[in-house]
Amino acid sequence: MQHPAIAYIGLGSNLSDPVRQVRQALETLSTLPEVTLLKKSGLYRSSPMGPVGQPDYVNGVVQLETRLAPFPLLDLLQAIEQQQGRVRNERWGPRTLDLDLLLYGDLKMEGERLTIPHPGMAQRAFVLYPLQEIAPDLVIPGLGALATLVGQCPKQGLRPYE
Ligand code: ATP
Ligand code: MG
Ligand code: MG
Repeated sequence: MQHPAIAYIGLGSNLSDPVRQVRQALETLSTLPEVTLLKKSGLYRSSPMGPVGQPDYVNGVVQLETRLAPFPLLDLLQAIEQQQGRVRNERWGPRTLDLDLLLYGDLKMEGERLTIPHPGMAQRAFVLYPLQEIAPDLVIPGLGALATLVGQCPKQGLRPYE
């Protein structure tokens, strides 16, 4: 066990009732003994990146506190994806649930299985805008102020859910 760290998770779904999938994942995250859910953004809709012709996504982000180290936390997130029927096919293809570890304290690491901050997050409206909702003053390791990144990121079809 280590000191508690603040981590941010990005949630996304575009299959099998995406809102239900995201709410189910939030419910699971909020009941795990290993993590304490601190904040959650509202839900958003976004246009898919990658393969065309797939349904729009529902997205959100959460802030949590955990004593789990980054790899065990990733294991846990992947177990929840599996539990909710995630099937890995083509890259960025449609999925019931995607849980990405966006940030883990002020950690920077690069590896095949885990890169933090999550690669591409600085260009993704469906990550940056919900993040700004729950952590407007956030500074992202190696990338700078969240507010600056948001200012440079077009909305890419992102809109609030409902
Ligand atoms: P993207 O990562 O571009 O959002 P994706 O979420 O669709 O695409 P996945 O299929 O969910 O990609 O994950 C592919 C691999 O990415 C996983 O096997 C995982 O080990 C690795 N990975 C690397 N860094 C991270 C991270 N920060 N959070 C989650 N997975 C990561
Ligand atoms: Mg992803
Ligand atoms: Mg993923």
